[in-house]
Amino acid sequence: MFKKILIANRGEIACRIARTARRMGIQPIAVYSDADSQALHVRSSEQALHIGSGPATDSYLNIERLITAARRSGAEAIHPGYGFLSENAAFAAACAEHGIVFIGPSVEAIRVMGSKSEAKAVVSRFDVPLVPGYYGDNQSPEFLAAQASSIGMPVLIKAVAGGGGRGMRIVRHITEFADALASAQREARSAFGDPTVLLEKYVESPRHIEVQVFGDNHGNIVHLYERDCSLQRRHQKVIEEAPAVCLTDAQRDTLYRSAIAAARAISYSGAGTVEFVIAADGGVFFIEMNTRLQVEHPVTEMITGLDLVEWQLRVAAGEPLPLRQDEIQSRGHAVEVRLYAEDPAQDFRPSVGRIWHAHLPAPAPDVRIDAGVESGDSITPFYDAMFAKLITFGADREASLQRMAAALGETALTGVTTNVEYLQRVVTHPAYIAGGFNTHFVEDFRDELNAPSPPPQPFELLFAACAVLGERRRAGGPSPWQQRDSFRLNLDYTEALVLVAGGEQYVLEITHRRDGLAVNALGGEYLIARHDLQASQLAMVVDGERIRATVFTDQAGIHVLHDGRYRQFVVFDPLHAAEEDATAAGSMTAPMPGSITAVMVKVGDRVARGAALIMLEAMKIEHTIVAPFDGVVTEVRYAKGEQVAQEGAELIKLEPA
Ligand code: ADP
Repeated sequence: MFKKILIANRGEIACRIARTARRMGIQPIAVYSDADSQALHVRSSEQALHIGSGPATDSYLNIERLITAARRSGAEAIHPGYGFLSENAAFAAACAEHGIVFIGPSVEAIRVMGSKSEAKAVVSRFDVPLVPGYYGDNQSPEFLAAQASSIGMPVLIKAVAGGGGRGMRIVRHITEFADALASAQREARSAFGDPTVLLEKYVESPRHIEVQVFGDNHGNIVHLYERDCSLQRRHQKVIEEAPAVCLTDAQRDTLYRSAIAAARAISYSGAGTVEFVIAADGGVFFIEMNTRLQVEHPVTEMITGLDLVEWQLRVAAGEPLPLRQDEIQSRGHAVEVRLYAEDPAQDFRPSVGRIWHAHLPAPAPDVRIDAGVESGDSITPFYDAMFAKLITFGADREASLQRMAAALGETALTGVTTNVEYLQRVVTHPAYIAGGFNTHFVEDFRDELNAPSPPPQPFELLFAACAVLGERRRAGGPSPWQQRDSFRLNLDYTEALVLVAGGEQYVLEITHRRDGLAVNALGGEYLIARHDLQASQLAMVVDGERIRATVFTDQAGIHVLHDGRYRQFVVFDPLHAAEEDATAAGSMTAPMPGSITAVMVKVGDRVARGAALIMLEAMKIEHTIVAPFDGVVTEVRYAKGEQVAQEGAELIKLEPA
């Protein structure tokens, strides 16, 4: 077995791989960019090597730097994690050239499966069912349009080199084909350096089911059951579970048989995932194979009780697979949610910034947290905004989902916007709980899932009020109120506290009395006899009932986690409110730092409201800035290819027509 391995990745997966390595007595070595010098995967590592600046092309995607780091550190092998160079054949080849073991499959397997069209050509020889489509070399727009017509609408255009749902366009009418093709090719060229596309019949409302496979260098190949990854946004997975519900025995049989056949077709070694879509009529179709460890591998680990990173290390070190197919058992049900710093209501736009507090549930045998951040860390614009994964286990699906809903209720990140409440709505949604949903779930229930948060409950306001008063007292503030003290002022006095949550103001009238705090809130009156805050746990006795919440305050406000819900309050500040109003007035600024991928207008152009003006790519997503009103362009501050360094930088000026 290896003594030292280099982990060519960051965030939660770098931390997760390091954990297994340490458990096996292998020393993990971390790498980091300038943007990550203080990151958790670096802080928690015994040895970490600097590899370059923030942009991934200069660090985590830089083959030469990584190889140099591995050689310098004396690592015998490199684990690429997922994303970055994990499916890069040139990287695997460079490792081999320098006598470093690449913890993954062969260069050839990566190369074949890295092209969605070559993958299809290879697996089609082995009785693996394919979606009807065109997977050839001819890329002339006229030829592809003719192919699309003969496949029949709707058609899906996909980047051959694609990943992460990028470079994909659905075409429902042949008249839209030419535009969709051009835009898919443009995105594919900028994201993967290769504009080649393939065409597939678009399977309406499919489910996404994938099979975990494992091979070794002794000719053994096994599967580790399936995962249902149908819950997606922008064709990217958000929630995954294992096993999949609503599969027939015949479908399972096709899935496992095809997955093993696909892996065998390329003499696969290491961890791999064979992905399928299942049509509404039950048809099973191969879509691609991922030649790496997947983000969602923990659900498979939960139901099998195995450590897939350990398996990867053993296989890479030349050992045979630890278990035979008939020794691999599946029990119970596991679900994983991906926690993102993003705003689901703003089309899942990533949210960057400093995390004042990262409050995550306590790990337990049925709750696993794979986190890449802690309090005080930052979400930078350079990398994916996923900051942690939460995985829960139960004897059955219902139990694991119930555990997940509770775990999400104990999760809060302050300072950035997250999808925690959104995920909570999904896992408690009747249509999700019923199972058998498809990849359109997020769209089908868009309005419900993005509805404004319900107004705060009285108890939540009381907790926040106690936190504010406690804070003031600690700061030596004006409050003469002293609870549990035998010595008191003999006059009651009343003050007003205005708390803001979800843009609404809540006025609390607080009377400091001999027997406690009498609070008027939301039309009710409450008597808080006692309250006590210790290590973020605030207990109070309200009208004879003792209740408790997790409460903390920081620069982002007052945070209350109570009864399965997180709520953020700020104390109303009239000066600050006036400033916010002034900046909200329809300015066309960059939502985050990034690079300009297209400029559609020039100075003097007349544009209609809603017209696309400029496109910015940041955090792997293209943002189109549109005109908020009819107007004339008076200034264009950036050209195509230029970098926008600052969130909020003005991109374009428009004067009302
Ligand atoms: P990527 O490599 O970019 O993730 P995939 O080929 O894995 O692309 O597809 C991503 C997602 O897009 C799938 O999980 C599925 O939801 C959807 N998808 C892919 N192919 C089809 C298809 N032919 N019909 C319908 N949906 C599809």
